[in-house]
Amino acid sequence: MSAAGRFTPGPAHRRIVFLTGSGLSARTGLGTFRGPDGLWALEPETEQAMHADRLPDSLPQLWRVWGRMARIAQEHGPTPGHRAIARLEAPVITQNIDGLHQAAGSDVVAELHGSALRATCLGAECAWSAVLSPGEGPRPEDHGVPSRCPRCGSPTRPDVVLFDEQLPAMDLELSLRLARQADLFVAVGTSGVVFPAASLAPLAAEHGATTVLVDIDPPLEAGTVFDHVLAEDAHEVLPDWERHRNRVGGTSFLDPFSA
Ligand SMILES: [Zn+2]
Repeated sequence: MSAAGRFTPGPAHRRIVFLTGSGLSARTGLGTFRGPDGLWALEPETEQAMHADRLPDSLPQLWRVWGRMARIAQEHGPTPGHRAIARLEAPVITQNIDGLHQAAGSDVVAELHGSALRATCLGAECAWSAVLSPGEGPRPEDHGVPSRCPRCGSPTRPDVVLFDEQLPAMDLELSLRLARQADLFVAVGTSGVVFPAASLAPLAAEHGATTVLVDIDPPLEAGTVFDHVLAEDAHEVLPDWERHRNRVGGTSFLDPFSA
């Protein structure tokens, strides 16, 4: 573990992979879910609705909560951190459901917890899904989605992974592949010490990656998981990295002022 703030990606880091959590989106007003100020503590009834065994009775609550989240995310748009990650052209593994990496222009995004900007079908075998026009309210129609799946007639639901539900297989597989391919693995706005960060960062390290945590308030144990822990604001650190990288890249051939 190095001194805080000293680490910057260098030319040797050609395959940067980011793992992002709710801390990256906190300044949009989306807040975090866990912890004393998290949504689960402030709204216990919402936490209850997040358990898969409450379906389908929990659907109105799920539509209300996730539809609202999707609307806040869409209105606010991506943060400087999201934009820097997109400009670094790095693939992203995210625990966030707010669609802000795609909104910033990231092409490769593994969404481990689904997306509040998509609806899907409650039918286990049905692959219907649709993009929402998020609004306010407990009905799918409040978010531009039919209440019944047009394909099979089952109720529709937000495409967000609930407690006791499996992570989406394709996104999980992509995450593992990205972690194995990374030469620099950077966790941002996630504690880094619970799943999936706790297993993805060591997986990346096993395959030769340098591992970094950028978090304004990193957990004490982070130093045992990551090579570098930067207790700083990701919205300052990541744009700095991006400027640094573009300056380094831009001086090699095309700089008209070089000798
Ligand atoms: Zn269906």
